[in-house]
Amino acid sequence: MTAADFAVKAENIHKSFGANQVLRGISFTALQGDVLSIIGASGSGKSTLLRCINHLVVPDEGVVRIGKETLRSHKGRDGVAVSSDHRQLERVRARLGMVFQNFNLWSHRNVLQNLLEGPVHVQGVPKSQATEHALELLAKVGLSDKKDAYPSELSGGQQQRVAIARALAMNPDVLLFDEPTSALDPEMVGEVLRVIRQLADEGRSMILVTHEMKFAREVSDHTLFMHNGLVEEEGPPGALFDQPESQRLRQFLLPTY
Ligand code: ADP
Ligand code: MG
Repeated sequence: MTAADFAVKAENIHKSFGANQVLRGISFTALQGDVLSIIGASGSGKSTLLRCINHLVVPDEGVVRIGKETLRSHKGRDGVAVSSDHRQLERVRARLGMVFQNFNLWSHRNVLQNLLEGPVHVQGVPKSQATEHALELLAKVGLSDKKDAYPSELSGGQQQRVAIARALAMNPDVLLFDEPTSALDPEMVGEVLRVIRQLADEGRSMILVTHEMKFAREVSDHTLFMHNGLVEEEGPPGALFDQPESQRLRQFLLPTY
C-alpha cells in the first residue's frame, strides 16, 4: 500500500488513563475517499481512539500515519505520553477537520466569524477569499440565511451543520466525526446526517464514530466494532451488520439494529 492509498492508518495504538487500559493495541486503515465508521458500547474507547488520530489524546504506544506523515509519541519525564514533533503535529492537524458531539462553536462569534477564524487567523487566507468560501459552505449545509446569527440563536441541528461547515472551511483531507448527532433532539438528526451523507457521496475521507447503526450501515465503506480496547470485528458494513461473527457484536446490535 502506498502513501496515497490511505487517508489515516493507525498502528498498535495503546492508551491508558491511570490503571484504566482504554486502548489495548488498535490498528486500522481508513482509505482515501472512504467512510470508516467506528461503533461500540459507550465507554469502549471510541472517542479516545478518534482523539488519538490528531493527538488530542496522545497515544502511549503506536503511531498514526496521515498520508506521508507519521505521528509518533514518547513518554515525557513525568511518564505521560507527549507528541514527539509538535511542528509536524500542527501541520497534520491542519489537514484533519474534527466535528464534536457538542458542536464546540465559539459562542461569542457569529456563524460567519466561526467559519473565518481558522482560515484567516490560523492559515492566513485573505479575508475576502475565506469569506467567499465560507458563504459557499453555508449554502452547502443549508444555512446561508444564518451567517450573522450567534450559536445561541440556532437549534442543535443548525449548530452542528455550522460546525461541519467550519471544519470544511480549513479544506481538510480527512474529517473526523465524534457522535455528531448524539446531542441532538431526534427531529434534528436527519438534517445533520443528510449533510454527512452528501460529503460521503462527494468522496471525502471520513472517520465517523456513531451510534446511528442504520446510517453507519448505509454510508460506510468499512466498519470497526470496538470492544474492551480492541477491534473485536471489522469489515464491510453489509457483512458486519447482517452477519456478525462475534457474539459480542451480535449482542451489541440486538437492541439497536
Ligand atoms: P466512548 O467514546 O466509546 O464512549 P471514551 O473513549 O470516551 O469511550 O472512554 C473510554 C474510557 O476512557 C472510559 O472509561 C472513560 O472514562 C475513560 N476516559 C476517557 N477520557 C479520559 C480522560 N481524559 N481521563 C480519564 N479517563 C478517561
Ligand atoms: Mg465517545
